[in-house]
Amino acid sequence: MVLHYEDNNLTAAREDVPRPAFRRMCQDITHGHERSTGIPVRGCVSVERERVYRLPRDFVEFQDALVMAGGGIFVEGAGVLELAETDAPPLEPAEVERVRSRTARSRVDRAEEGRPPAGPRRFGWLSASAAPYRPGNKHRDDEEWPHLIAMIKARAAGRSWRGIAGDLNRRGVATARGGRWSEQGVKGSVANPAWWGGRILNGALVKDPATGEPVIGRWDHADEARDGVGYETWVAIMDGVRAARFRRGVDRPGEISPGAAAPPRTYLFSGVLRCGRLNDLGEICRSRLCGNRATGRNAKYGDYYRCGDPNCKGVGRRVAAVDEFLEGLVLDHLDEHFAAGRPEPVEWRGEGKLAGLRQARHDVEASITAGAASWGDVGGLLLRLGRNIESLEGERREHSESRRKDLRGWRREKWGGMAVSEKRDVIARVLRSVLVLPVPEGASDKAPFDPDLLRPSWCRDAPSASRAFRGGRRPVPCPGPE
Ligand SMILES: [Zn+2]
Repeated sequence: MVLHYEDNNLTAAREDVPRPAFRRMCQDITHGHERSTGIPVRGCVSVERERVYRLPRDFVEFQDALVMAGGGIFVEGAGVLELAETDAPPLEPAEVERVRSRTARSRVDRAEEGRPPAGPRRFGWLSASAAPYRPGNKHRDDEEWPHLIAMIKARAAGRSWRGIAGDLNRRGVATARGGRWSEQGVKGSVANPAWWGGRILNGALVKDPATGEPVIGRWDHADEARDGVGYETWVAIMDGVRAARFRRGVDRPGEISPGAAAPPRTYLFSGVLRCGRLNDLGEICRSRLCGNRATGRNAKYGDYYRCGDPNCKGVGRRVAAVDEFLEGLVLDHLDEHFAAGRPEPVEWRGEGKLAGLRQARHDVEASITAGAASWGDVGGLLLRLGRNIESLEGERREHSESRRKDLRGWRREKWGGMAVSEKRDVIARVLRSVLVLPVPEGASDKAPFDPDLLRPSWCRDAPSASRAFRGGRRPVPCPGPE
């Protein structure tokens, strides 16, 4: 065995789970060697084929790779499979499909019949139990219920998600999983129509097809008379949520909403800045700071970065001052570490192969046109060539993208011409984080910006290692302000 490809803990049965090692293996088989070492790769050995592919899509990709390699071999257990010659997936993809639709089907059934949804326990309801038998999410948890109702009422009264989460944590109320409340957690509980008996499936409220009324589930839910909140309360809350999304201009990316203000700004150091204040629990907060647009009477101070963690009183800093200072640091760092050297001059390994395939496709098409071959004879071949060409073209695009991101040979003049997203890419590749310390007690609000309160931590990756800047970490997108 010369090379080992392993997608740890990744299922091979789901379309939406990317399998990087599987892809790399297919590419290496296609090219006949491993990318960085050049070790020849002529096939694949696996204890069972299900470890390699389960989806028809993966089967086709794997088979194409073996064929392109010119008779690559696949050994399963002790036997050689003639995969390159067969044209049908040897296992039933229908089985995968069947399991998937069975799960989806039962979800729909449960919702339409108003049965309590399966899944993890929701805050406010009791979990499932075997003896005595009790389904989960059906019966009220009398201890949590008043807190859930209080959350709903607070939101309906205009309190922020952050404020509600902070209150819960201060009162020592734990989430369903025993943790601390976050803004998202509170929003998740209050926005879920389960508390009044409703259910959302595929983005829409489940309604009775005959009456158009929401289906009320057969689980304990709020009672307008007893709890003082109900369906109408929920509708009002959700209208507020939609209005806030609309104002921020984040509703439906791509859809232009006429009433929306300017698109949300992206700030250079959002997500890189971390909060350095001790939070309510006595820990350094370390939450990511997000940029906020200054509005109203604060507009004259300019946009600001702010910690939005519900357990923290927060730190804030003006964007203009922070950006100017940190931009200078980043540029100096780039000059010092990346100006020397030049980008890795590695050419993509597949140029010859791609040219060959294009020529082959051209020849086959020409022979059809000339009447030397019929479509029936070579149609399958053309389809395969098309797929091969497409996958190699994709690989070449990825290659040039990763070269573009190589910082070696850096020139400061580039910076001015870069878009904010490109600058953020560069920043994320050199700057791990910047801790923002709170302004000391007693310092005036008007005190000038103090760069000593920013503590940068740089990425340690040596620029000489070719792997250092592949797959650089991206800053996690910040949720918008609300
Ligand atoms: Zn904080």
